[in-house]
Amino acid sequence: MKLSTRLTKIAEQIPAGSRLADIGSDHALLPVFAVRQGWVTQAIAGEVNQGPLDAAQRQVNEAGLGQVIQPRLGNGLAVLEPGEVDVITIAGMGGALIVTILSEGISKLAGVSRLILQPNVGEEFVRRWLLEHDWFLSSEQILEEDGRTYEILTADRIDDAAERNNELYRERTLTVSQVEDIFLSADHLLQFGPYLLNQPEPVFIEKWQQEIGKLEKVAASVGLSETDEARLKVAALQQQIKLVKEVVTCLQKDKQ
Ligand code: SAM
Repeated sequence: MKLSTRLTKIAEQIPAGSRLADIGSDHALLPVFAVRQGWVTQAIAGEVNQGPLDAAQRQVNEAGLGQVIQPRLGNGLAVLEPGEVDVITIAGMGGALIVTILSEGISKLAGVSRLILQPNVGEEFVRRWLLEHDWFLSSEQILEEDGRTYEILTADRIDDAAERNNELYRERTLTVSQVEDIFLSADHLLQFGPYLLNQPEPVFIEKWQQEIGKLEKVAASVGLSETDEARLKVAALQQQIKLVKEVVTCLQKDKQ
């Protein structure tokens, strides 16, 4: 079984000896890989749809791992009993859906010590949820595969999560030149990612360059309307574009 780089990097975040729940598991590729690597002792592959659940069951049977991995049908964390797993992975969905799954299943997070989340879009929502629920964002990764960019957010339940998050999201400045600084608030750090901003990789810069293009297209399209609401929206988008451009320019200078 050849696992994608994205799923491999997610699996690598699972501490050895974990009991895992992979929610939205589809073909159960991630739990099968993690068990084979010896990182996971027991796993649950949660799926809300029957088709992917059947695919998960087939994959588990073919791998001969029916004693270790249980595919379960259900919405989000409803497939879990409290205390049943230590680690939860949720990958390949939008950030808003990941947040809904975590919020609706919050009682099932008792006993869970690590969340490994890979939103396809809307990473900011996920970081904000983690911050508001005292999960310490312990690492961020970014990668490009098959022309798409993915971020992997790992969060740990630790006693001093609030203090460490305060430190992580403390406002800071990026120095553009001797005369100019960019002020980055906690909101900006939630948007860009505090670790990703600290060590900007080319793929991170590329992602935000593409984002500028997308925002410009949205602004042009909204700008076709002449309502007050549209004008306000365009002004907000232009401010956002300006910030992203400044950050990207600054990070590129840093790299030179
Ligand atoms: N996690 C795999 C990955 O990253 O490659 C599969 C991602 S696939 C695009 C998303 C899967 O999540 C689908 O199989 C879908 O049925 C499932 N899904 C969507 N909403 C869900 C929910 N609320 N609870 C459980 N599974 C869900």
